[in-house]
Amino acid sequence: MTPKAGRVIVVGGGVIGTACAHYLSLAGREVTILDRGAFGAGASHANCGYVCPSHVLPLTTPGAVGMALRSMLKRDAPFYVKPRFDPTLWAWLFRFARRCNHRDMMAAAAAIRPLLNTSRRLYDELLRSEGIDCEWEARGLLFIFQSRSGMEHYAETDRLLRESFDLSATRHDGDALTALEPALKPGLGGGWHYRTDAHLRPDRLMSEWRRVLEARGVTVREHCEVKGFVRERGRARALMTERGEMTADAFVVAAGALTPRLGRFLGCKVPIQPGKGYSITMDRPARCPTIPLIFEEHRVAVTPMRTGYRLGSTMEFAGYDTTLNRRRLDILRRGAEHYLHEPFGEPVREEWYGWRPMTPDSVPIIGRSPALANVVIAAGHNMLGLSMAPATGRLVAELLDGTTPHVDPAPYAPTRF
Ligand SMILES: Cc1cc2nc3c(=O)[nH]c(=O)nc-3n(C[C@H](O)[C@H](O)[C@H](O)COP(=O)(O)OP(=O)(O)OC[C@H]3O[C@@H](n4cnc5c(N)ncnc54)[C@H](O)[C@@H]3O)c2cc1C
Repeated sequence: MTPKAGRVIVVGGGVIGTACAHYLSLAGREVTILDRGAFGAGASHANCGYVCPSHVLPLTTPGAVGMALRSMLKRDAPFYVKPRFDPTLWAWLFRFARRCNHRDMMAAAAAIRPLLNTSRRLYDELLRSEGIDCEWEARGLLFIFQSRSGMEHYAETDRLLRESFDLSATRHDGDALTALEPALKPGLGGGWHYRTDAHLRPDRLMSEWRRVLEARGVTVREHCEVKGFVRERGRARALMTERGEMTADAFVVAAGALTPRLGRFLGCKVPIQPGKGYSITMDRPARCPTIPLIFEEHRVAVTPMRTGYRLGSTMEFAGYDTTLNRRRLDILRRGAEHYLHEPFGEPVREEWYGWRPMTPDSVPIIGRSPALANVVIAAGHNMLGLSMAPATGRLVAELLDGTTPHVDPAPYAPTRF
């Protein structure tokens, strides 16, 4: 067991690094968060804000490979792989494709389920005990189908979720759906309501959580990029940063989609690809939905927030691309028009993209670096980083402490690739 670490530096001020800092600070550590940019400005800034145990099934489903191949020919498909020469991306896609079968899908779901369920419970505790106001609402999540056939087809998935993961939804057909959510147009196929889910405003969560952490003595240093580690006898002695070396007793790498850039120091493969997604944040339309909605056939998510309204989603594998692609943003607008009386609010406050940290098996990487005994990796949370953050933070604190982890960390082992 590694001796108790007093001073810990967390690399990455996203929701995962923040959750790690929180539980490390509760365990009595002196914590610093470093970020190469502004705190909370990565994928954690304007995502859809769902805290959703209902999303236990991973992206690696039996039909996903065919969908990915077809999408290469369609630039405005919600799931798009940009055809280009990138051996790392092709190796990643090959690994991803091999996991797209029922057995591996169920294994991935079993792995992420405890992180989802524990986090949902921890959010309740955390937000109440710390007085974090992030527009949290526990109204569940509605999976909507435009077609009757889509609705019937989903009944299979609903049965799987109920029988294998104890996740039950209430089915609403026809008028019952518009009675539940009058912002929806009549004549849709139907919807499934997962009441366990909740939602929040992600940028509010990040600023409020920062306030709480700083009040507890956690230091946040922005615009300080970590370039690597200084190694000494199988441990990290310091970080190499833009501003020189920074020493600590232990380190957490929570650099999201950029974690592979530190991979050569960590002694293991870090197969994370940026899965680019978009969102448009507006003021609330007059007929604003009250429940968060996912339009399954168009892959568009709607988040009604107390102080705004967001359309989000799409998944693009295009490397570390920093352009705001109008065509991808239009997918969100066009998709919403099919379902809502008033799909847009005015004015548009923000158009945004974020890089989801995607692993080929849909499972995050959480555990000690095999090369540096006092470094823990916490990255690769795919499409569910917000939903898995508190349990990840708690697990990281337990791993550094050497106490019994509250979830079995084996499925998240960094050495598994
Ligand atoms: C459109 C969209 C919608 C989404 N909706 C949801 C949702 O509804 N629910 C959900 O659970 N998840 C959702 N997600 C996924 C979620 O946003 C991510 O899984 C999560 O934000 C990842 O958090 P993170 O802390 O790992 O990464 P990030 O938030 O990206 O944070 C990583 C941080 O590390 C910093 N960093 C990187 N490298 C270095 C370095 N070398 N030195 C210093 N700092 C560094 C970066 O600047 C960044 O701030 C969505 C994502 C997108 C794009």
